[in-house]
Amino acid sequence: MSTSLLYHAFAVRGYRYVKTEYIEGEVIFTIEQPRESYQCPACGSKDVMGRGGKRRRFRTVSIGGKLVYLVLMVPRVECRCCGAVRQVKIAFADPRVTYTKSFQQYALELSRYMTIKDVAEHLGISWDVIKDIQKADLQRRFGRPKLSHLRQIAIDEISTAKGHRYLTIVLDLESGAVVHVGQGKGGDALLDFWKRLRRSGAKIEAVATDMSPAYIDAVTTHLPDAVLVFDRFHVIKLYNEKLSDLRRELHRMTKDGLEKDVLKGTRWLLLKRPENLDASRREPQRLEEALRLNAPLATAYYLKEELNEIWEQDDEEAAQALLMDWITYAESTGIRMLHQFSRTLRIHATGILAYYDYAISTGPLEGTNNKIKTMKRQAYGLRDPEFLKLKILGIHETKYALVG
Ligand SMILES: [Zn+2]
Repeated sequence: MSTSLLYHAFAVRGYRYVKTEYIEGEVIFTIEQPRESYQCPACGSKDVMGRGGKRRRFRTVSIGGKLVYLVLMVPRVECRCCGAVRQVKIAFADPRVTYTKSFQQYALELSRYMTIKDVAEHLGISWDVIKDIQKADLQRRFGRPKLSHLRQIAIDEISTAKGHRYLTIVLDLESGAVVHVGQGKGGDALLDFWKRLRRSGAKIEAVATDMSPAYIDAVTTHLPDAVLVFDRFHVIKLYNEKLSDLRRELHRMTKDGLEKDVLKGTRWLLLKRPENLDASRREPQRLEEALRLNAPLATAYYLKEELNEIWEQDDEEAAQALLMDWITYAESTGIRMLHQFSRTLRIHATGILAYYDYAISTGPLEGTNNKIKTMKRQAYGLRDPEFLKLKILGIHETKYALVG
């Protein structure tokens, strides 16, 4: 063993090799810091006096299957310049950790191929140490996402625990990077993002969101000049929910009224050819009544297809004409659910048609959402919300094995 091997094998530089011990299968290198390299950690002055020290042990990369430790008496110094009395900085380890930078690097390298559990077992160290190493790495790389280049973003919420806990995610639509993860799903979840965005000086042109009042309010307040684009799939999803409500409502009506009898056996009638309907058994009349009862649902189904067409037009003018036709027709049906939805569309028409200025959606967030779901299934995230948040911020780039 030599000082130069310390450098080449363990990236430990500026320390002197003292001795090697083999204790219970572990290899322990004692090293020391030369007196002439003592330096004040506060001001950097070399005009310092030694004031004792503290013996510390650092885990470093293994040699074969042997765990290797570095033992160092970390000097304490009193600075003649600034008066500080403190431990000197350690060149080969981050503050307050018990492992070297080379160990950290090696654990991160393994993390690309193995789970936290695998890495911890392989290195003979606790799960938490590996998690902390990953967390510090994520913090360094993704903890403060750059925002100044942002032009088009999408905002959406994801549920992290069976509909109870939510995170609000902001995505850079140009790079696909997650640039904010906020707790909750209301406007509050974005406050920190607006603050950082303002400081960054970014000029946001367009924002894709759903039609929830909280996001609309937040965006119009904090980005008054940005174009708000309501996400197509959220509009359709909302319509589908209303459609299901209508179906249930109609079903309930038929269940407790006279109409139940009318619908009885009509499925069979629907399948019959009209010329085969038996007039003596009132089949033509029964079919007509059944169709009348089902008419609201049929109309609503039909209008769903038409609704999709709003996003398939050649230009905004055609889309606007179609939207207005849709609203007029829906209102003329006399179906309450369609009336209410027309109102929603009317109120949000500008943001729906804004798709023709910025063809953006929250769709790219779905891909991120799926990755988050995979991550969550692996159990580790929720125990440490900050770790989960960092994993999400790095989700487009990190190559850690997904499982915990
Ligand atoms: Zn000093």
